[in-house]
Formats: sequence, structure tokens, C-alpha cells
Amino acid sequence: MIKFNNTYDQLPEKFYERCLPEKCSQPSLISFNKKLAQELGINYASVDEAELAQIFSGLKILPGSNPISMAYAGFQFGHPVSQLGDGRAHLLGEVNGFDIQLKGSGRTRFSRRGDGKSALGPVLREYIVSEAMHALGVPTTRALCAVTTGDHVFRQDGPEPGGIFTRVASSHLRVGTFQYFAFQKDIDSIKTLLDYTISRHYQSLEGLRSERDKSIELLKVLTIKQSELIAKWSALGFIHGVMNTDNFSLAGITIDYGPCAFLDEFQFEKVFSSIDVNGRYAFFNQVPIAKWNILRMAECLLPLIDENQDMAIKLVEKEVVPLFDLFEEKRMIALAAKLGINDYQKSDEYLVMMFLTYLENQSLDFTNAFRNLPELLKGDSSFYPDTDELKAFLIEWKNRVQEIEDLDKINPIYVPRNHLVQKVIDDAYEGKFDSFHELLGVVTSPFEMKSGLEQYARMPKANERVYQTFCGT
Ligand code: AMP
Ligand code: MG
Repeated sequence: MIKFNNTYDQLPEKFYERCLPEKCSQPSLISFNKKLAQELGINYASVDEAELAQIFSGLKILPGSNPISMAYAGFQFGHPVSQLGDGRAHLLGEVNGFDIQLKGSGRTRFSRRGDGKSALGPVLREYIVSEAMHALGVPTTRALCAVTTGDHVFRQDGPEPGGIFTRVASSHLRVGTFQYFAFQKDIDSIKTLLDYTISRHYQSLEGLRSERDKSIELLKVLTIKQSELIAKWSALGFIHGVMNTDNFSLAGITIDYGPCAFLDEFQFEKVFSSIDVNGRYAFFNQVPIAKWNILRMAECLLPLIDENQDMAIKLVEKEVVPLFDLFEEKRMIALAAKLGINDYQKSDEYLVMMFLTYLENQSLDFTNAFRNLPELLKGDSSFYPDTDELKAFLIEWKNRVQEIEDLDKINPIYVPRNHLVQKVIDDAYEGKFDSFHELLGVVTSPFEMKSGLEQYARMPKANERVYQTFCGT
């Protein structure tokens, strides 16, 4: 059914632990992403739902699958943690270059005090949000399958139904993977990991001979990839919520949908996550944090760049750090494109900031405020409170932008807003999955207006509002 071709488990044993998923009592299929399965070349034609549930709960291990849990470390909220690792995930294997990983599949060597399990809520959230992100054009891990386990997990508010999520990723390599070996001063493993990362994601760097060149070029390409990624998040009002270095992908994809959220009313420094008390991962702070994370990655590579640490730092400062301006620039380009500006110039920053400041001051919905712009340009300003700020913006904007074509392909109408996802989870906890399937259908065609689905496009009402998001572990 799945032709595994595993590469990570060919690395030295200290990169992972071989371990099997724990057995759950009664797995039952919620959703299987057939389209993604086809793209991956998975042949599911002769497999029924019961067997899919067994496979994607880890109860049945397919030939060629050698489950492992990956080792990694990380800086969590700025503080180093020398060992994290897959505490509740099993990599079943790789298919056509993509990892197939179970999440919530039981304890591993890296579980620390955790139970290795996942409640159903976070499984459904990750399924919906990651598929929505893909449909919105954002590089991301994907959702292949979701099952209920038939068991309960115990969380803060008591027992909750358990679930297992099957995640597909171009890899699960993170800055934290390098940090795991950097913390141990294991330079040989850092070299091995550097070559592996390049062969998996950045083959154009394979011709480079010296470790210095490989390291510097990897940092550069990572900077470019991440600046593009964060620009896309910014253009959608997406807050990742927990951009720790262990959740910062070396492939430049969005990984780990925990306390993430899409903005309703626009606020530059909006935070949803209950654990982010200092606003470290606030909406507009995602750019400086991404740079901070890349510098942590650079630290791991310093010994490979030059024996003399000061020289190595100087080289990173000279070669890599100047590229950091890309983060601000790409974010502005992406936001300006939402206003209909396709030939961004530095002077457009003023216009973008004017509009965002107006949105913030008027507590306007981010998604709808952009989606309604074509009406505004035509002279229908009913969505927009008439203020001096709006008047000033309109003069500048109409000067700069005469007509806007295809803006509806850039500015979505449907995003998986928190209250919508919460409703899906509440229903699922009562055994009802219709709203899950409906929301999934809506957010995976995010640019097309569909009649009868207006409730998916509006801001939450006061009684629907979700003020905080939780890690869900
Ligand atoms: P996350 O916040 O999901 O990125 O996870 C951070 C770390 O906590 C990772 O090492 C996870 O494997 C671990 N972790 C999260 N939830 C659990 C759990 N229920 N059991 C064991 N480890 C967990
Ligand atoms: Mg994580």
C-alpha cells in the first residue's frame, strides 16, 4: 500500500529511537485525505476504513515501516532545553521524500512527563488549519488522516476522547535538531546533519566542498525560505503562537499547529496563546523572532564555519545577517499585494501601515477588510467606518492603485477562524463530525464565495469569541 523509502533511519542511532506506537483500543476513522494520498502514490484502493484506522493509529505496522521517534532540542520561549524530541510522535517512514508521522501515538524515550497521547481537539485543529494553509498557498505540513482511538486522555479539565493525527511533511528537520547535537558539542553529528539537510532540501548546495560554504549557504537559503513563509503568514493574519526553535522548520514550512490562530480584528501585537504571557510570539513580532531563530541555527554551525569562533561570527555577520532585511521587505511586499500593489516600492510601506493602523484603530476584521477592498475602490465604503484616517488612506491609495484585478485570488474570504474550529471540536466531543467535514470543505476552497456559507466568513459574535488558545498537549 505504501512504498516506504526511509532515509532518516539510515543515520546513526543517536539521531532517533526505534520504537513502536502504543496500541489503542478501538481506532475509528474520522477523515482520510485521498487527494494527498494519491499525490504521495499511496495505493489505498483495496483498503477499507477499518484497516485505514488500524494503519493510521499505529495498530497495524505496514511492511517497510520502521517507526522511529526523532531526537531534537530547542529554545522554548527563549530558554534552552537540551532534550525535547518526539515525545508523542512516531515517524512511520518516508514516501517519495515525504515523512509520514503519527502524532499522539504513545510514549517514547522523549516523552518526559507526558503521556505521549493527543486529545481529539488538537487533532481536528491541526487537520483543518494545515489543510487550509495549503489551500491558501502557504508551505506547510499536510494532513493525511485523523482517527479517534476509543480511549480517553486526561487533561486539565478531565478526560477527553483521544485522537491520532497523521502528518505529512517534506521533513521534520528543525533548528532544534541541530541544537540537539550542538548542546552536546557533537561536531561530527552536526556535520552529518548538515549533509543530510542539504541532500534532502537544498540539493543545489551539494556541490559545495567546504563545510564553511555549506553552512553559510544553508543559513542564507533558510533565511530566504523563512522570510517568504513569515510573509505569507503575515498576509493572512496568521499567528503561529509557539515559534520555538524546535518548531522552526529547516525546509521553511509551517510546522506544529498548537495555539495558532487567525486574526479577527486586526491588532499588530495580538497574542492568543495562553502560555505566551509576554507576547514573544505576537503577530508582528514573528519577523524578529524568525531572525532570532536563524541566529540560533547559525550558532550550531559556527564550529563548522571557522575554528576561530570570532572569525566565524564575523563571516555570519557579513554573509547572512544583511539578508535579514528580507523579512521586513517580503512582509511588506505581501501586504502591499493585498492592496493591489504589484510593483512594490519602499515608499508603499507608508500606505500599508496607514491601512493597518486604521484597521487596528477601528477594530476591523483583517480578512474581511481586505476582501472588501474592490467595493471600496468602486466607491462603496459601507464596510469601513468613515474617519479621517480612511479619507487620508483613500486619497493615497487611489493615487497609487487605479484598478485591482484578481484581488479575490489573493485575499481569501474563508479562513479557519478560532470560533469555527472550536465549534467543530465541541461537536466532535459529542460524537458529531458533520461540522468538521463542512468546515474542512469551506476552508480548502478559501477564495471562492459560496452562497449559504456566510456564517463562515463573518467575525465571531460576542458569545462565540475565543479569547485564548492552548497548546493542547
Ligand atoms: P510542542 O509544543 O507540541 O511543539 O511540543 C513540545 C515538546 O513537548 C515536544 O518534545 C513534544 O514531543 C512534547 N510533548 C508535547 N505533548 C506531549 C505529550 N502529550 N506527551 C509527551 N510529550 C509531549
Ligand atoms: Mg513541536
